[in-house]
Amino acid sequence: MADRVRRKLRVLFATAEAVPFVKTGGLGDVSGSLPRALRKAGCKVNVILPKYGSIPQKFVDQMKHVADFYVPLSWRNCYCGVEKLTYMGTDYYFIDNEGYFKRDAPYGYFDDGERFAFFSKAVTESLQQVPELECDVLHCNDWQTALAPVFLREFYKEAPWYDTTKTVFTIHNVKFQGQYSEDLLHDVLGLDLTPAASQLRMVDSHGNRSINYMKAACLYSDTISTVSPTYAKELQTPFFGEGLDYIFRERSWCLHGILNGIDTEEFDPATDEGIAAKFTAETLDAKAENKRALQEELGLNVDPTRPLVAMVGRLTSQKGMGLVTYAMDRLMSRGVQVAILGTGDSDIEDSLRYFDWKYNNQMRAIIAFDNNLAHRMYAGADIFLMPSEFEPCGLSQMIAMRYGTLPVVRETGGLMDSVEAYNQYTGEGTGFRFANINGDEMADVLLNACEVFWTQPEVWRHLQENAMAEDFSWHKAANDYLDMYHELHPEVIRYNVKR
Ligand code: ADP
Repeated sequence: MADRVRRKLRVLFATAEAVPFVKTGGLGDVSGSLPRALRKAGCKVNVILPKYGSIPQKFVDQMKHVADFYVPLSWRNCYCGVEKLTYMGTDYYFIDNEGYFKRDAPYGYFDDGERFAFFSKAVTESLQQVPELECDVLHCNDWQTALAPVFLREFYKEAPWYDTTKTVFTIHNVKFQGQYSEDLLHDVLGLDLTPAASQLRMVDSHGNRSINYMKAACLYSDTISTVSPTYAKELQTPFFGEGLDYIFRERSWCLHGILNGIDTEEFDPATDEGIAAKFTAETLDAKAENKRALQEELGLNVDPTRPLVAMVGRLTSQKGMGLVTYAMDRLMSRGVQVAILGTGDSDIEDSLRYFDWKYNNQMRAIIAFDNNLAHRMYAGADIFLMPSEFEPCGLSQMIAMRYGTLPVVRETGGLMDSVEAYNQYTGEGTGFRFANINGDEMADVLLNACEVFWTQPEVWRHLQENAMAEDFSWHKAANDYLDMYHELHPEVIRYNVKR
């Protein structure tokens, strides 16, 4: 091995979302906070993402043109501009191609497979064309960037940086793999793999002759990670692995599970300007004003004695919405208030609208994506319900805990790793947990939590204090990511003394 040197590793973080530019879920939060935390932990990070039409104009106005070139995509050469913006000390690079990205939403188009193949190729081409983007680690996230490690290994063998650029692929949700017609392999991706190689690496996704971007990334990347230790184990089982479990078992030696953090500055009840009354663990009584304001805003009965249960998130079966609709009548009959903010599958949206109508001043469904209201709900609710069938990490339960809102969660993925179950004998814990995908079991545990709320206010207060004392900052996760990067570069000694 060459002489070891002490220096900062250079990381290029490729993602389809990053707060404050674009967010549809947890990936946006993670990509907004992790790079900053990595910088603090001691490495150099650039973030690269598409320049969507939906990025607020105030950011677009600040972007500076850095480079433009053509990206080869099979038989075509596609225009690619690179624009740069420094935000809170981190450099963001935006891939500009109006045909692909100047649209109202980030995803949901017939040509998403082609759009993100282009984005991934633009990322690898940027390594070649834009010297300031050269890196030691190319860190890709989810299916939208999954082809970058593939392109890097298939098309850039002659590049001077080929051997020294290592790739990391992080799975934020294995449910979304990016599966498209195998015609794309040649016609768009321009990959002429031998039949045996393509069979192994991309084609024949679950036996149906489609190509699978995430499967390819899991095989091509130098190392893999996912967003909680429990999900890293779950991925290796058929129930959770979504057809890729055998790959996760084969590559378990390089599969890391690193629990996400949250942006503790954005989500801070002590400084949050958007909530009715700021509070800390020492001034928890002020939380009551947030509950009153939320009940009033949502048209629920203004009553401090009613436990107010909130949910914020995508309305899909993943989030256990079937259990919620199953148990709703029972919860309502016990006098619980429920407020749900989210968008998602139309059948779930419709059933929530029905309950909203049926239990007019006891149940509210807000079918919208509203970040400001989300803050008011985290601050005003007593209980945060997250009965997910699977949950790679989950951020909402951590945000809720930070606002002293106790989570009721199913024991899966990151929910398992972040919520300590209430122990009635010791009085300790940070929330409540149930084990099975079962609506009655969920309602039992939720109503048990309400019982504690009603009958043991001191215990409830203690659990709130415990929850608020949890450290969900990115500090630990950033150090774990840095360790993982350094495993790929043993010749580089860590720049910062750890922790
Ligand atoms: P996901 O599976 O969607 O990534 P996470 O719990 O990891 O779930 O992250 C969801 C993030 O998106 C949280 O910050 C949550 O507050 C936010 N969020 C989800 N749905 C909505 C909505 N309808 N309005 C506002 N914020 C939302």
